[in-house]
This record gives sequence, structure tokens and C-alpha cells, in this order.
Amino acid sequence: MKRVLIIGGGPSGFTTAILAKNKNTEVKILERNSSSLKKLLMTGNGKCNYFNETYSISNYHSANIEKVGEFITEKNLLEVKNFFRFLGIVPKVKNGCYYPFSMQASTVKNALEEASKACGVEVINNCLVTEIHKKENGFSVICDEEEILCDVLVLACGSKACPKTGSDGMGYSFLKELGHTLVPPVPALVQLIGEGDYFKKWDGVRSEVSLKLLEDGKEISESYGEIQLTDYGLSGICVFDLSHEVSRGLLDGKKEVIQINFVPFAKDFSSWFDQYSREHSNKNIQDLLEGFLNFKLVSVILEKSSLSCSSLYSNLSKEEKRVLCQNLENFSVPIIGTKDFDSCQVCNGGVSLDEVSLSTMESLKIKDLYIVGELLDINGNCGGYNLTTCWISGLLAGKRIGEEHDSN
Ligand SMILES: Cc1cc2nc3c(=O)[nH]c(=O)nc-3n(C[C@H](O)[C@H](O)[C@H](O)COP(=O)(O)OP(=O)(O)OC[C@H]3O[C@@H](n4cnc5c(N)ncnc54)[C@H](O)[C@@H]3O)c2cc1C
Repeated sequence: MKRVLIIGGGPSGFTTAILAKNKNTEVKILERNSSSLKKLLMTGNGKCNYFNETYSISNYHSANIEKVGEFITEKNLLEVKNFFRFLGIVPKVKNGCYYPFSMQASTVKNALEEASKACGVEVINNCLVTEIHKKENGFSVICDEEEILCDVLVLACGSKACPKTGSDGMGYSFLKELGHTLVPPVPALVQLIGEGDYFKKWDGVRSEVSLKLLEDGKEISESYGEIQLTDYGLSGICVFDLSHEVSRGLLDGKKEVIQINFVPFAKDFSSWFDQYSREHSNKNIQDLLEGFLNFKLVSVILEKSSLSCSSLYSNLSKEEKRVLCQNLENFSVPIIGTKDFDSCQVCNGGVSLDEVSLSTMESLKIKDLYIVGELLDINGNCGGYNLTTCWISGLLAGKRIGEEHDSN
């Protein structure tokens, strides 16, 4: 009987366990928390956006982006759908995003726990692994000063994102000690801290915008959606989806600026605004802008444009009009930081994809060591892409471990 130890009772650990268990394997999950899948319960605001039907590598990020296509394949995505069918989860699909029909993350947690129990996986809670040693054959794992031996070891400890859920970066330390190389993890899907003295004034405003990310003055990314303006800077899904690049750029000493287009509804805004102001020539500039923007935002934009609210648009100089339109279409927020690992949803970085077989998730450095889930250097945009990485890596690793030991 092959002894398989999985460190981490998160989505990737459970998926691996369910696939790896068969009559020739003894599979145990070691989880430090008193209950498993703590982070999963927080996903999608408690609704668990577990998958996305869009198949595009552009939704993923990695230092080895060219390798991601070997892993996120149509075949593997189909396997994920089949796995959810096997778990008995009925999906609700909203704009391509998959949720359990119950709209409760606990449905997914219960299904994973039930399936692992049914196939004979043992879950050991309150078990903090502190050391891992490679033996001549297999591994020795230290948990609460006790040694547990195994033939196959799976690292499924998650990243450093949201450490209160149990994933505090210990997995990275284990990987380094075992000789793996890490792309330094940085916060991703995270809020951005801006430089400026006006943030308190726009705190709480939400607006539909398009965004550009400029790095050292060059546009490198864009996104679209609802921004949340906060007392420290910027939040919202469209901001999160650019945040991995900001985090990495700041780490490399680059200058990061977000340009916000608050008027994405007009293709040629200055012409549109000329026409709009003529149609409402009796209104002052503040009333004009409040026709389509939140009043708190209007006051920030007027202040930044050095304009008085009572001015009439028709009386503004050419330069004043230019500056106003610039602040409406390309409002620049220099970014001086991101919120930290406590606030981010995932990490960008992790174990280099060069060091893992992307068809089995087995380490290319150490035989019988498997690495799954967010420990890998792949992260995705909001929309279920991160959990998808966990399901795919867990399915590939579990299948491989199960097959190998079934034929013995
Ligand atoms: C607020 C929030 C919302 C999110 N929403 C979504 C979403 O809607 N869709 C999506 O796709 N992704 C979402 N994510 C990301 C997603 O939750 C993670 O990518 C996913 O949980 C990672 O799974 P994992 O199995 O790699 O690790 P984790 O879920 O982090 O599980 C790792 C487990 O390992 C345990 N562990 C760690 N170290 C040890 C140790 N030394 N000994 C024993 N146990 C250990 C931890 O306690 C933990 O239970 C969200 C994340 C957050 C924080």
C-alpha cells in the first residue's frame, strides 16, 4: 500500500486526494485548521465562483506564460466540468462564471468532503506540518513533533494570500528547502494605494470606467468595469485584474500609474461634451458634470482641474477645457503601493513552472513530490480562474498518483 500524504486541506489538496485514492493507496490530508477548506468558503463573496467557461490564456499570469497553455487546455477544462458533475454540483452560470446553483460555497466544501470520505481519504485536522525531509525512499513529515512517513508527498499548502485562512507561505519555505526555485510571490487581486490628498473626498464612490496601467510611462495593460474609489486609492474587480502587474512593477522599482477614463460611454468625449454643454447652456460646470458623474467625484475633478463649480463651460479657455477633458478621460493616479497579503485574494509568483511537469504536477527535481494549487506560479483574473488552477492541478496530480499505484 502506497502512503500518500497531502499537506493542505484546500481545494487543490482535496481534488488530488479524491483522484489519488484507490485500493493500492492510503491517502491522508494534513490540515492545520480545525476544519478544512476555510478559504474556499470565502470565495466569490461566499458564493464560490469556481470556474469560468471562457478559454483564454490571457486570463492567466505567470513568469512562464508560454507554459500556461500546456496546462490550461480545453481537455483539462472539460475534466474540471466532469469532476463537478461527479461531485454532484449543479452549476449556475452568470456571464460565463460558474457558481453552485445554491449560490453557497458550503455546497462545494460539503461535496469535496463527502466525496473524499466516500472514497476513504483520511483528513487529519489541527495538524500543522513544520518540517519535511526527503528520505532515500519517500519523505518524513514532522507534525506536532511527531514523524509521519510517506512514499508520495503532495504540497497543497496554498500561497501567502489571506493568511488568516491558514495559508501563510509555509509551502514556499518547504519548496525552497527541497531545492525548488520561487518566482517571488507578490499580492495580486488586491487594492491599490494611490499618491494624492483627495482620496477621502471620493471615498465610497463606484463608477463604470475603463482603466489603463502605465509602467514607466508606457501603457502595458487595460481593463474595464466598476471601480471603487476609496480613502486610500482604488479597488474593484477592474483594478484587481491589473494589480499583479502593479505589484511586480513596484517590486522591480518601476513607476506605476493608473489612468481612469470616467466617461467610457463617449468615444470622442470632447466633441460629445461640447454638444452636451450646448444643449444645457444654462447649467454651470458642476451641474453639467453631475448629469453623469457622482457629485463627490465631480468635486475632485473640478479641484484637480482648478475650476470653480459655478463656471460656465462656454466661458472656459481652450486650455481649461483641455485640462478638464483630460481629467475626465485620463485621470492619473500614481500608485505607491498595494494592500498587503492580508487583503489580497491570491499571489502572483510561486514555484517556477519550469520545475514541475505540467501533465502530472510532479516535481522535476524530486521524484514522488507533487505541487498543486496556488503554490504554482500561475494566477488568474477574477472570475473563477484561480480555483480552476486548483482543480486542474489536483486532477492531474491525483490521477497520476492513483494510476501509478493502481498498476503496481
Ligand atoms: C476573499 C477571497 C475570495 C476569493 N474568491 C475566489 C473566487 O471567487 N474564484 C476563484 O477562482 N478564486 C477565488 N479566490 C482564490 C482561491 O480561494 C484560491 O486560489 C484557492 O483557495 C487556493 O487553493 P489551494 O488549495 O492552493 O490553497 P488554500 O485554499 O489556501 O488551502 C491551503 C490549505 O493548506 C493549509 N496549510 C498551509 N500550510 C500548512 C501546514 N504547514 N500544515 C498543514 N496545513 C497547512 C491551510 O490551512 C489551507 O487550508 C479567492 C480568495 C480569497 C482570499
